[in-house]
This record gives sequence, C-alpha cells and structure tokens, in this order.
Amino acid sequence: MVFEYAPAPESRSAVDIAPSYGLFVDGEFTEAAGGRTFTTVSPSTEEVLSEVALGGAEDVDRAVRAAGRAFEKWSALPGRERAKYLFRIARILQERSRELAVLETLDNGKPIRETRDVDLPQVAAHFFYYAGWADKLEHAGFGPDPRPLGVAGQVIPWNFPLLMLAWKVAPALAAGNTVVLKPAETTPLSALFFADVCRRAGLPRGVVNIVTGAGETGAELVAHPGVAKVAFTGSTGVGRSIARSVAGTDKKLTLELGGKGANIVFDDAPVDQAVEGIVNGIFFNQGHVCCAGSRLLVQESVHDEVLDALRRRMELLRVGDPLDKNTDIGAVNSAEQLERIRSLADAGEAEGAQRWAPACELPERGYWFAPTLFTGVTQAHRIAREEVFGPVLSVLTFRTPDEAVAKANNTPYGLSAGVWTEKGSRILWMADRLRAGVVWANTFNKFDPTSPFGGYKESGFGREGGRHGLEAYLDV
Ligand code: NAD
Repeated sequence: MVFEYAPAPESRSAVDIAPSYGLFVDGEFTEAAGGRTFTTVSPSTEEVLSEVALGGAEDVDRAVRAAGRAFEKWSALPGRERAKYLFRIARILQERSRELAVLETLDNGKPIRETRDVDLPQVAAHFFYYAGWADKLEHAGFGPDPRPLGVAGQVIPWNFPLLMLAWKVAPALAAGNTVVLKPAETTPLSALFFADVCRRAGLPRGVVNIVTGAGETGAELVAHPGVAKVAFTGSTGVGRSIARSVAGTDKKLTLELGGKGANIVFDDAPVDQAVEGIVNGIFFNQGHVCCAGSRLLVQESVHDEVLDALRRRMELLRVGDPLDKNTDIGAVNSAEQLERIRSLADAGEAEGAQRWAPACELPERGYWFAPTLFTGVTQAHRIAREEVFGPVLSVLTFRTPDEAVAKANNTPYGLSAGVWTEKGSRILWMADRLRAGVVWANTFNKFDPTSPFGGYKESGFGREGGRHGLEAYLDV
C-alpha cells in the first residue's frame, strides 16, 4: 500500500498513480492505527477511485498531539514568516490547479468547468487573502494583543471539499493556530493532495494534519480535550450534536449549517438576467450548495413569463460527464444523497405540487438527478421547508414586498437570499428585513474571500471569510 502522495507526471491524472492514501499526521502520511481503510468511488461512474485510511480515536489523538506540539513554534513565529508559508501554499495551489480540478471533479462529481473556474481560483484566493493578514493582526482593530487559540479541529462536508478546507485552514494558520482537519468520507482526496502541498511549501510538521474517516472520526476530533476551537460545516443535525459535545467545555465553536435560500423576483426585473440567476442559484454544483436559491419567489404578475423563460433555459442545460468542459450539471455526490433527493422530490409530488424536468438522457452508471422544477408549491410542502441539497427548485408566488419577506423568512434556516429588481431602494428595504446571512442583489452565489459568510437561526453561527473569519481564530 502506498501511503505517500505520489505526484503525477504531467501526462497522467492525479489519482491513477496513487490509489491508496494514508492519514497525514506530523508531516508524514501514515496508516491508520487499526490498519482500517475505506473505499471512495467516482460518483459519475461508480468506479473505485481510492482506498483511504480510516482514522480512529488513536489517530485523532496522535494528530491533535502533533498539532499541539507544533503550536508552540508556529504561534511564536512573526506574522510575516507565517505569511510566507501561506503565500507559498497559495502559489503551489495555483501551479497544481489543473490536477486538483480533475481530482476534485473525479471525487465529487461536479463539472470540471466549476472546479477549474470557481473552486480552485477561490481556494488560492483565500490563501493569498489570509496570507496578507498574517502580519497585520496587531493593526486590525482586534485590540493590543490578539492571540491564536491553539489547535483547531475542523470538520468539513463534501460539496466544496477543497474550498471548505481553504475557508477553515487559511484563517486558522494566518492567526497562528495549528490544524487537524477531517474531510468528508466521500471526498477526502483533495485534502490529502493539500497535505502534499503543505510539505512542498516547507510548512513545519504538525501545523496541518489531515485525518480521514467517517462521522465517528469527526466526533472523536470534536471531543478531543486538546482541541481549543471547533469549526464545523455540514448538516444542521450533526451541527446540533457537535454543539452538545462542545457544551460545558471552554472550546470555541463556529457552525456553518444548512439553508433554504429564497431567490425573489419582482415584476420589474429583467427576465433573462433573473433566469440566469435562478439557474445559477439552484443548479450550480448540482444544488449541493448550502446557500442555494432552492425556493423561487416570483411576483404573481410575472409568474408565467418567468416560468416560460426558465423552462426554455433549463432545456439547454447539459447533464452528464463532469470531465466534459461543456457540462453544466454533473453527478450527485453519493448514492445516499441521491436517495435523499429522490425521496423529497417524490414527497413534493405526493403533496400535490407539479413536477417538471427537461428531457435529458442520464448516464446509466453513476448517481444522477435531472434538473427539476416544482410549481404550485405551498409553504406547507416539505420541498418548500426542507433542504433538498440537490437540483430541485420549488416555485412560490407573492403579490407585495411584505409578502415576499414573510415567505422568504418562513424557514428555520437563514443563510442566503437573492433579490431581483431594478429599484435600489427596494433592494435595501428587502435586505434590512430578510433574515439571511447574505443577501445578493441582482446576482446569486457570488463569493469573495473578503466577505464574511454565515447564517442566522438554524443555519449556524459565526462567520467565515473576511476579517470576521480571522477573528473566529483569535482571542481578542
Ligand atoms: P454532514 O453533517 O453529514 O457531514 C459533514 C461532515 O461532518 C463530514 O465530514 C462528516 O463525516 C462529519 N460528521 C458526521 N457526523 C459527525 C459527528 N457526529 N461529529 C463530527 N463530525 C461528523 O453533512 P454533509 O451531508 O457532508 O454536507 C451537507 C450539509 O452541509 C448540508 O446541510 C449543507 O447545507 C451543509 N453545508 C453548509 C455550508 C455553510 O457554509 N453553511 C457549506 C457547505 C455545506
């Protein structure tokens, strides 16, 4: 079994050369203590991609201890020295971005156009951005002596594997913390590639540790007494169990959880532009997006016009091989997630909403779900209330701005919303009243490392990105 990450020669893909991966602890790839492994498959073909070490309590303990030892030196480095490492990591990520885009697409199922044009540029941008902060902590208004917290235990989901890593690792390191990260069990490969990037950047051993495994591995990490800060992105259910595990300790906690975003289209919005935003809002990344615009709230007077244009646009979407640069919608990440999407879509039909999908041939093997539209949805329907986390859009209508706000806010979540109107004053009026961590105006799913991101209500607490994202890793 190969536990090194063996870099691919230019002519070969990143994964076919090293089908087995170990944990990355204290600067080395190693076998899990129990020798246990798990298999990952490509969601678009169901072919086996790799055999990955399944970390247990002993491995988590080893990683946390390594991170604890590394913290002494790493936190004592001048900020400008930490910045050098982060800049180096960012540059290597850029140099290796083509391989990483392919790896991420194989592992996750998302279109290569997205990993190439969105995920990877954003990943590098986060490391560049937080590298710039590392030597300015004293001047950022945090107070006279901002201090890192210690070892950060970070648990991430599968929908943007490397980007979620970047959101967590870059600010943690810039602030002087060390890290133990647990990637999702269906998408561990880019995190292990990242471990190799850290080695190439000369990052001191133990500063970044990657422990692959399942939910139990994450639970061990969160509960470990050597962890000073827990950062979690994932489902609201698991977020709750983590909050319970951390309660009664002095650990700091940030939670980035689920969402049920509303895309709100007024009658004065340019229809073509709004339709592009609606499509991007729900079909980007197969709808596996916490801030997806999964509810379309359209003003009654333009309902038919918007829906006609939307159906025409959906007929143009190309679903299929995620490695094809023309593909718009790739594979659902796992059989389990596909089942979840199917059962919620079936519930939508059973509850009386009208289901529509463009004619598209789905590949025989792999996990696929056609872009789907539900009209005639009421607020009581499960598809209007529960996070589908798939390419399924529920359409509701409103007559007045007040009604739009009431319906948009009628959800336990509070992560995102979009407002489509030509009236600037209405955008501000709506943004004031929408209980969502981000409100986009005449656009959707725009991200930037300088902007804080996070939720209200059951979407979690704490912010990632920008100065706020740094503060989450400091005692100020
Ligand atoms: P999930 O909660 O099932 O898993 C997320 C991670 O937590 C995985 O690494 C998993 O192994 C781990 N985990 C599972 N049980 C655990 C436990 N008891 N203790 C510690 N770790 C545990 O979520 P998922 O299905 O991987 O991701 C989808 C969810 O993530 C959606 O609800 C989505 O909205 C949310 N999400 C939120 C954001 C955000 O920024 N708010 C971003 C991306 C995804």
